[in-house]
Amino acid sequence: MSFVTWRTCGKSLTVGTIYCLGRNYPEHAAEMKAALPSEPVVFLKPASSLVQDGGSVVIPSISNDVHHEVELVVVVGPGGRSIPPEKAYDHVLGYGVGLDMTLRDVQAEAKKKGLPWAVAKGFAGAAPVSTIVERARVPDPHALDIILRVNGEIRQKSHTSKMLFRIPAVVSYLSQIFHLEEGDLIFTGTPEGVGPVHAGDTLEAELTGVARLTVGVRPPAQH
Ligand code: MG
Repeated sequence: MSFVTWRTCGKSLTVGTIYCLGRNYPEHAAEMKAALPSEPVVFLKPASSLVQDGGSVVIPSISNDVHHEVELVVVVGPGGRSIPPEKAYDHVLGYGVGLDMTLRDVQAEAKKKGLPWAVAKGFAGAAPVSTIVERARVPDPHALDIILRVNGEIRQKSHTSKMLFRIPAVVSYLSQIFHLEEGDLIFTGTPEGVGPVHAGDTLEAELTGVARLTVGVRPPAQH
């Protein structure tokens, strides 16, 4: 199930690496009591953590505090290395809206111990992503409202103009370090308002005029 689907034609694209940015909206860094980074904070999720629109996030039994983080998602393609910022949009296929689901209690423990975030950010179901809209249909990805509703109530509402590192800078930065490939995704960070979800909740993410995503939350699987 490691693919994204184009909204217009319904074709699918296999997803490779999922890159994610931390602390990329100043108000979110503030609510996490974290300093603003001088360079992008990057972590990864496995492609197998994807959830399609209409699917479910199953709460892992190792966590009692699963948080939503609504984010603009960039689809990479064609790939490359050392992409200059002014060429970055040539390497963007499209955009969607995603949820960087986070085991906040597991992450807090990892931060305290100086350990990686892979479990907190990469568990099965950690990456719901909407259908994707091609780049040409989005004249300015930094001129969009980004909203998350839980059971119909707005929990996060911001604007993509508030990103600390914008898409050209992010694509360029990542390509200095990684070999970007077509089908990679970039989660560009969440605005303020993150908070817990519970079994039975319905999460609706919206990148206004571009993409919508609805997923349910289910209790831990019985083994
Ligand atoms: Mg995030």
